[in-house]
Amino acid sequence: MKNIHLGVFEELEKQFLNFPRNTFYDHCLRIIVEAQLNKLKYSDEGFEPNKLSRQDIYAKARGVNKNTVSSQVAKNKIKTDRLNVELEKFIESQPDCKQAFKDIGYLPEVISSVSEGGAKNKTYVWMSIRAIENEEEQIAKSAVFESEDYEDLSSITYERKATSEIKPSLFTKLFFKKGELKILSFRGILLMILLMLSFLVDICVAIFALLVILLLSELQNFKLWQAMLFVAFIPVAYLNWRYFFMPLYMLPYHRVVKAPMFFANINVDNTDIEMYRNKDKLNIARITEFTATCPICSGVIELAKGKPDQKQPLVGRCREAPHAHVYSFDRMTMRGCFLGMKDYSVNNALGL
Ligand SMILES: [Zn+2]
Repeated sequence: MKNIHLGVFEELEKQFLNFPRNTFYDHCLRIIVEAQLNKLKYSDEGFEPNKLSRQDIYAKARGVNKNTVSSQVAKNKIKTDRLNVELEKFIESQPDCKQAFKDIGYLPEVISSVSEGGAKNKTYVWMSIRAIENEEEQIAKSAVFESEDYEDLSSITYERKATSEIKPSLFTKLFFKKGELKILSFRGILLMILLMLSFLVDICVAIFALLVILLLSELQNFKLWQAMLFVAFIPVAYLNWRYFFMPLYMLPYHRVVKAPMFFANINVDNTDIEMYRNKDKLNIARITEFTATCPICSGVIELAKGKPDQKQPLVGRCREAPHAHVYSFDRMTMRGCFLGMKDYSVNNALGL
């Protein structure tokens, strides 16, 4: 007979692969179940769980170095109750998944060792299974989970990524030294000259293209393809102005901007530039990344343009629901409050 543990975990892994959601808790659950499967594949005997520390899970789910995760952060983010609620929600949301576990007769469940307090006593987290009881009991159980200390959904706390963890693009490396750029330095002035030059070129292209269009009938030996080539420069000039010049020009006023083209690494889909003053009151631009965990769906919140639905130029948008899970961004307090649609009640969204 097939090991029941193995059956349940394999089914869960399959369901996570079939219905991938890019949320923090789904990543955590996948990491836990995959760890169990790795262990089970080698032993045919009874189930012996593969226990993971909270730091391990947090670091893997976030894709960061384990050594940079403090035990306090891991403790706050990896809560067994919350993981079980999310696991139940995932199973409930996929009818196929629900049916599959019903057929097996067992459900997966997240378990943790009880921590005894002290600094050296780590809490370990793993997964086990439990027999499916009758349904009413289950519903009563999950209702208790949901009403227990639920996080505040109306506000979030942002995290700033360490400069050392950001992979800079080639263009950034040209100007930024270790992810930082002093504006009043050789490289800073070089970048400003480049910025001004690109702005001048933009204006020249626009004026020149305009003249060519206006004087087309006067210019006898000017061929049509040449005229078209000049007209084609207009969108290029516009793109340069809109996505390269303007973001950098606004940086001193907005203090934080999305990294414009060339600055963002092609392999990394989210980069921000922040400007701050050092102890000598000199402006320094720094490549960084602001993220938060969406309290509604645990997806990643990153900075994005506020337009067209928000007044602020920069807001935090959830990758999974960018127009519903919207939060403000305050770089000094690193906090944000819910800005979603007016009639959108957060509690309704969660079905509370
Ligand atoms: Zn969300």
